[in-house]
Amino acid sequence: MLVFASQDHRAHNPTELHLFAGEALPPKEVPARADVILGALQAAGLADTREPDPLDTDPSATALLGRVHSADYLDFLRTAHERWCALTGNDGQGEAMPFVRPILGPTYTVPDHVLAQMGRYSNDADPLLAGTWKAATSAAACAVAAARAVTGGDADAAYALARPPGHHAGPDNFGGYCYLNSSALAAESVTAAGGRAATLDVDTHAGNGTQAVFWRRRDVLSVSLHIDPSVEYPYFQGFAAERGAGDGEGYNHNLPMGLRTQWPEYEPVLEAACRLVEDFSPDVVVVALGVDTALEDGVLALQGDDYLRLGERLARLRHPTVLVQEGGYDLRVLGKNVAAVLEGFAQAS
Ligand SMILES: [Zn+2]
Repeated sequence: MLVFASQDHRAHNPTELHLFAGEALPPKEVPARADVILGALQAAGLADTREPDPLDTDPSATALLGRVHSADYLDFLRTAHERWCALTGNDGQGEAMPFVRPILGPTYTVPDHVLAQMGRYSNDADPLLAGTWKAATSAAACAVAAARAVTGGDADAAYALARPPGHHAGPDNFGGYCYLNSSALAAESVTAAGGRAATLDVDTHAGNGTQAVFWRRRDVLSVSLHIDPSVEYPYFQGFAAERGAGDGEGYNHNLPMGLRTQWPEYEPVLEAACRLVEDFSPDVVVVALGVDTALEDGVLALQGDDYLRLGERLARLRHPTVLVQEGGYDLRVLGKNVAAVLEGFAQAS
């Protein structure tokens, strides 16, 4: 499998504890995630690894960012940590955490204070670090390079080891560990090349950011199967009734399922999602490959060979495919589960 990976993800290395239910917990979205994935792919002989070109050296790749995210959000994300350091006197090593949120209802004044903007542009409690922009753009570069390898005919399939993940990042907001939406950027690479893309999000959480990016579009089909958002993040979006709007009405599909769903109940939902993709007949399928569906991650309950079967089913879509890494946080199983998906995909291709 053609694999795009960059070491620049290490620039985003949150270490500060955060409170959850009265307990101080360490961050879960850490550089070791990418290390265990790449190690497992190499051990399985599955990684033909390439380094992507940096996004900011290629104007056409940079332009893709502007098709997925708003210009004001990109400016904010690029500059917020430096502005926060200037405000607080921080030495540059600190983690800027949003804490004040927009007041629901009419906005009389658009704030330019960095603390207000941190709340305005976030939908969760994720830190901004000095290296967040560098890491997020490296993840995006991996996704764009993988998409271009597939649309350019260099490969039938390619995998982007994107970290931090991206599918919760909307046009103008970050959250759920996500800052730039790499899966949406891969899909946008396909449309920029004149094709039609389908995003198939198999992360345990709804791909709400991707949904928001393509909400009013019919040239990109968005399909996500995930834990019922009434019991898990992102809570406010990812419900079955959300089907897109305007030109995009009917081109967004959410397939929620219950807590601790195992393969026998998961498989028919996956099948339904794959049928939607097949009916759309895309030129390229972009798989938002979260493996936090693992039993060990505590939400859904896939394990072991389930991931081989998932990879096999994705391959049987019989379309050029870009796989973009999303979630998966239990370091004991993360690497082997991603490797199993790619192995199943390769075996069935
Ligand atoms: Zn997730």
